Amino acid sequence: MSILVLADLHEGQLAGATAHVVAAAQAIGGDIDVLVAGEGVQAAADAAAKLDGVSKVRVADNAAYAHQLAEPMGALLVELAGDYTHVLASASTTGKNVLPRLAALKDVSQLSDVIGVESADTFLRPIYAGNAIATVKSDDALKVITIRTTGFDAVGTSGSATTEAVDFVADNAQSSFVKQELAQSDRPELGGAKVVISGGRGMGNGENFKLLDGIADKLGAAIGASRAAVDAGFVPNDMQVGQTGKIVAPELYIAVGISGAIQHLAGMKDSKVIVAINKDEEAPIFQVADYGLVGDLFEILPELESKL
Ligand SMILES: Cc1cc2nc3c(=O)[nH]c(=O)nc-3n(C[C@H](O)[C@H](O)[C@H](O)COP(=O)(O)OP(=O)(O)OC[C@H]3O[C@@H](n4cnc5c(N)ncnc54)[C@H](O)[C@@H]3O)c2cc1C
Repeated sequence: MSILVLADLHEGQLAGATAHVVAAAQAIGGDIDVLVAGEGVQAAADAAAKLDGVSKVRVADNAAYAHQLAEPMGALLVELAGDYTHVLASASTTGKNVLPRLAALKDVSQLSDVIGVESADTFLRPIYAGNAIATVKSDDALKVITIRTTGFDAVGTSGSATTEAVDFVADNAQSSFVKQELAQSDRPELGGAKVVISGGRGMGNGENFKLLDGIADKLGAAIGASRAAVDAGFVPNDMQVGQTGKIVAPELYIAVGISGAIQHLAGMKDSKVIVAINKDEEAPIFQVADYGLVGDLFEILPELESKL
């Protein structure tokens, strides 16, 4: 077996997701190569070479891959895929954009959001918002798989893989990069944060979300939200956790004024420790919480911050 992992990049640097995808590749077994594609990505390639279990890092450093647009990235993967039995990427915006293109061009089926590996051809993936887990087997010669990173613990960084340049330059005439607008934040990225504190409709308004800031600062946490809080306009939608938002599995998840609807739980129930703050002791969030505080969040949050 030979596996190619498409590295996730964040502002040109290797994103944490890649270490989780390499862990999934290890569960499959076989030689693992990592593809780092972008422009000016030597630092990312060096970081990828340190990931445990990686044999070789293939570096496609070219303006054609600068923004990881689906068309040139798809063409690059088609060019390289012949060397591999499996191509893996995280189920991130880029992975979900690029891998189905590879699957279509190679005329194989796509396996999405994989959370477990049974064998080299059989995988586990959640369906119905995580209420059931499907076991899927692929008979395709090439398996094209996106990995839900929360399903696999990251590999360590004591490796020393070789690096090799990829000369192939894809034609990217079909699409061009126009611009991107990124939210500026000093906080950790929601998807990779070790601690997440999220507010729900119970926060009352956007101004009250500031009550979470002090606690997030003390814990080094990212701030998330329920869809009700997003839909009410309290906070922007990139903060949404859940079925139609981000999937997170931090060490610690604190849900504040969130009832615990199944669609919210779909995005956070794999967190290691869950703390819920809610004034309704019957709220379903308490069924998944390790620690529950029943009370008014407007009293509990300032007290929690001062105790921290
Ligand atoms: C197709 C689909 C996809 C969806 N995707 C998502 C998703 O990705 N993420 C998501 O979150 N939801 C999603 N939803 C919506 C979901 O069903 C719920 O409506 C939503 O999660 C509710 O948000 P909430 O818990 O903040 O609000 P509510 O359910 O209104 O709960 C508010 C909670 O705050 C508590 N509260 C109020 N005041 C206080 C106070 N002063 N102190 C302490 N507690 C207080 C209340 O007791 C209550 O439990 C989706 C729904 C559908 C149909």
